[in-house]
Amino acid sequence: MSIDTSQGEPIATEVVVIGAGPCGLFQVFELGLLGLGCHLIDSLPHPGGQCTELYPDKPIYDIPALPVCGGQELVDRLLQQIKPFNAPLHLGEEVTELARQEDGRFRLRTSTGTTFNAGAVVIAGGVGSFQPRRIGLPGCESFEGSSIHYRVRNASTLHGKRLVIFGGGDSALDWTLALAPHAASLTLVHRRPEFRAAPASVAKMRELVAAGRMRQIEGLAHALIIEGGSLSGVQVKGSDGVMHVLGADQLLVFFGLHPKLGPIAEWGLDLERKALKVDTERFETSVPGIFAIGDINTYPGKKKLILSGFHEAALAAFAIQHHLYPQKKQFLQYTTTSPIMHKRLGVPDT
Ligand SMILES: Cc1cc2nc3c(=O)[nH]c(=O)nc-3n(C[C@H](O)[C@H](O)[C@H](O)COP(=O)(O)OP(=O)(O)OC[C@H]3O[C@@H](n4cnc5c(N)ncnc54)[C@H](O)[C@@H]3O)c2cc1C
Repeated sequence: MSIDTSQGEPIATEVVVIGAGPCGLFQVFELGLLGLGCHLIDSLPHPGGQCTELYPDKPIYDIPALPVCGGQELVDRLLQQIKPFNAPLHLGEEVTELARQEDGRFRLRTSTGTTFNAGAVVIAGGVGSFQPRRIGLPGCESFEGSSIHYRVRNASTLHGKRLVIFGGGDSALDWTLALAPHAASLTLVHRRPEFRAAPASVAKMRELVAAGRMRQIEGLAHALIIEGGSLSGVQVKGSDGVMHVLGADQLLVFFGLHPKLGPIAEWGLDLERKALKVDTERFETSVPGIFAIGDINTYPGKKKLILSGFHEAALAAFAIQHHLYPQKKQFLQYTTTSPIMHKRLGVPDT
């Protein structure tokens, strides 16, 4: 498959790691210990994968030597651990294309057009890239990105606009509170009386409603109102059966995210039940030079646990070093005693 690199020179690197979940982050560490540089890419706007996206405040009890550790805390600790290696982190970019070149290196392209030329690739894509749950109204596709948004990229473009925000979680409430003072009008629509967002945010929202600064409706999006090809509003069916016609320039939809294997399934790699088949010595996929660790891979006895992914990252790093530099002799060195590892970690030798 040829990849158009017209948007600039590809970034040359030893390794690209796809996915900044806990396993992708630890992969950066293991590569760094062996002196290998990498770029890390994730489609989400923040690192941490499932830990950050699905259970940031929940405690994890089976990380070795950490009797209890929150999901976000684990990610923060991993980020601290990989700091010495300065691996560039490309967030909010989905890797859409991956192809092997004739010289054995790999070309990658992301959803924002960044291209890479890598000697090896590690896919640490977990359960896939997280995609926003869409509003699903007829005709919504043509307004997504212009008048219907699942993520706010530049809040100032929403100032002075008539806004309708859908959702009942933290994102919906946080943006309601941030945008209410600047919007021409703002209505928050949520299907249930209970909110999943922080109680303090819900209380503040209710204060704004009481002060007449915004509206809140319990109901569901029913239909878009389109005039002359532009979005002019949305019909919302209230849980009491009343149909509300809301004038709106912009709709913000925060129905949460769901994982989708997405482009990874199209890269010609052997799959078994939506997971990448790897061997248990090198954690290499069916294409030499492309490795897979963490929840995305499968092999006999696979257990989708963070600690399994950490082990896989360590062995994959040695395999990658061998793939890139087959002549190089490999030694197992302890971080406790190895001067070269101390140098890479930036710790003074004693
Ligand atoms: C509620 C809950 C509780 C859990 N508790 C535990 C526990 O106690 N102990 C335990 O060991 N495990 C637990 N797990 C499982 C654990 O979270 C996963 O095993 C772990 O997150 C897998 O890490 P990963 O790095 O492989 O993938 P993920 O965490 O899924 O991260 C993968 C990342 O890859 C990105 N990605 C995917 N495709 C692309 C692409 N094409 N381009 C760019 N980015 C891409 C995604 O956006 C995502 O950020 C729990 C899971 C859940 C849901």
